[in-house]
Amino acid sequence: MQTVQTVTGRVDVETLGTTLMHEHLLVGWPGWEAEAMADRAARGDHRARCVEHMRELHAHGLRTLVDPCPIDLGRDVELMAEVAQASGVHIVCATGLYKEDEGAPVYFRFRTHWGDALGEMTELFVRELTEGVGETGIRAGVIKVATGVGRITPYEETVLRAAARAHRETGAPITTHTDQGTMGPQQLELLLGEGVPAHAIVIGHSCGASDVHYHLEMLDRGATLGFDRFGLEILHPDRERLAVLIGLLGLGFERQLVLSHDTVWCWRGRAPKLPAELLPHWKPTYVFETIVPRLRAAGVADAKIRTMLEENPRRYFRGEPAAEAISASG
Ligand SMILES: [Zn+2]
Repeated sequence: MQTVQTVTGRVDVETLGTTLMHEHLLVGWPGWEAEAMADRAARGDHRARCVEHMRELHAHGLRTLVDPCPIDLGRDVELMAEVAQASGVHIVCATGLYKEDEGAPVYFRFRTHWGDALGEMTELFVRELTEGVGETGIRAGVIKVATGVGRITPYEETVLRAAARAHRETGAPITTHTDQGTMGPQQLELLLGEGVPAHAIVIGHSCGASDVHYHLEMLDRGATLGFDRFGLEILHPDRERLAVLIGLLGLGFERQLVLSHDTVWCWRGRAPKLPAELLPHWKPTYVFETIVPRLRAAGVADAKIRTMLEENPRRYFRGEPAAEAISASG
């Protein structure tokens, strides 16, 4: 039996079911600890909100959720375990570090100048994948890396290389953050160069680009692309995400695409005041309520939708290539 590491233990990969590959129960920008008291006071509310979202999602058929919160964004794996237990939805948590401009605690940045950062990060990621996060005993099941707009900084490059090495030691798959539809092909190039097979890589937030050349370049190399920011119209119009997605599905790339929203359900510290009118659709059920019906209306077969929501996550965690992945000539 092949298994996947979730926050509540290993589960049979065949039981993953419908999976959202990129949502966040809780996020805190580095520094949230300054509001630790308010954060502790809000923990019960956070837990209740997460369980409520999970119940809504369960009613839509969701059975597994990947929360790729990296080490430095307020990750709380114990909250994830409580929510998984209360809701019956599997949660896979991540090890890994965020992009330099919004993460990169000084500790890790300093180590890149004055230590063996690559070795130390690799060791840390492997430990979180094989022994557990801190003293919780809760193990990560996926490795998260991230880059900012238009370049990969030396710090981010170190994180990517450490992730690749941790993958080679453990077999855990890698999921990435990209900004504004840039640097996906460069992330892929770097990871492939470090010996990570393409089928173990999801290039996240690929729906932030509308130039199909960007997507084809990565699909032709065998990577899976995250169309995982549906509803985040403040960053990129859903209409364009859909147009590209429908086009790629029309070409037969359904085995290399996964869907999600990148929603954040709770914030550590004080929650940012996001104007609701700017994000009317940014909720974790939007794919099921709106995107799937729109795909059907555009003529996308149910089988292709199931492939993206069920089969691809399963194959990613099984560590299996998409056998029928289309090549450039296909
Ligand atoms: Zn995210």
